[in-house]
Amino acid sequence: MAKLKLASYWAAACGGCDVAILDVHEKILDIAAAADIVFWPIATDFKYSDVEAMPDADIDVTLFHGAIRNSENEHLARLLRAKSKILVAFGSCAHIGGIPGLANLFSREDILKRVYLETPSTVNPEKITPDPRTAVPEGEITIPVFHDAVRPLNQVVEVDYYVPGCPPTPAQIWNVVQAIVSGQLPEKGSVVGASEKTQCDECTRKKQEKKISGFKRIATVQPDPDTCFLEQGFLCMGPVTRGGCDTRCQLSGVGCRGCYGPPPGVLDQGAKALSAITSVIESKEEADVQRIVDQIPDVLRSFNRFAIPASLITRKVL
Ligand code: SF4
Ligand code: SF4
Repeated sequence: MAKLKLASYWAAACGGCDVAILDVHEKILDIAAAADIVFWPIATDFKYSDVEAMPDADIDVTLFHGAIRNSENEHLARLLRAKSKILVAFGSCAHIGGIPGLANLFSREDILKRVYLETPSTVNPEKITPDPRTAVPEGEITIPVFHDAVRPLNQVVEVDYYVPGCPPTPAQIWNVVQAIVSGQLPEKGSVVGASEKTQCDECTRKKQEKKISGFKRIATVQPDPDTCFLEQGFLCMGPVTRGGCDTRCQLSGVGCRGCYGPPPGVLDQGAKALSAITSVIESKEEADVQRIVDQIPDVLRSFNRFAIPASLITRKVL
């Protein structure tokens, strides 16, 4: 059987997805036996020009991780879309915007001002901010254009499959690789390697359908190790998050933060969280509910940590 041609690329991301691919450990040798890596900038010395020189649809599968934050990310997304038979949005950032998507709570100008002029460690007396084109004696230097908002991959190009997670678990990655190698991928547009259920469906912590009278923080109170976080008053995004990570956070002693994105049928994870999590509050009095919700530090970011660019509003309206 001919070996597959496989590519992996990171756009606006932390690199954790690349590390997660290596976390399949010795199975990386099985991947190498089944597929030739034709582009993987973090691990191999291919150039963008190598990809540009490929015929269209020459790459069998590209695992694209990272959101689209700047013009370089967008160029590579369009290039790899054209060169790939199958384009996979791999990891939370490509899937739903991820942590870089929190920047959609600020304007482009606010971000540049904060980073280049205001941070305590910045010394910038000439108040220089990045310019996509700069003339120098030798010619012109260009850098990517910083876009106004972060977008998940499918807001820029057509995506064939989604692999959620920040990062996806090694077991999930291996399942995805096996599905690709065996040609047993599900219907186009599907989420692969994760579950069709929620985190709560897969969580082994004890639940008694108890209502809560307040929220606590793990930094100040020790949770019971066997009982549902939410029923103890600790925030957990389990009711509104797709399963498939083997509840790795809950087993490590913290509530789910939502990185697998919304479960099937949920359009807006943050909005769903608002409805699901406030429904476990015991009081029906508006003032009481407000007082209790105010105990959640930063409701907006707690409920939308990973999915703002994929939400119905996609960004703060400034
Ligand atoms: S809310 Fe969190 S801790 Fe409770 S059952 Fe759901 S996933 Fe588990
Ligand atoms: S428990 Fe939640 S935050 Fe943790 S890895 Fe799983 S989906 Fe992501």
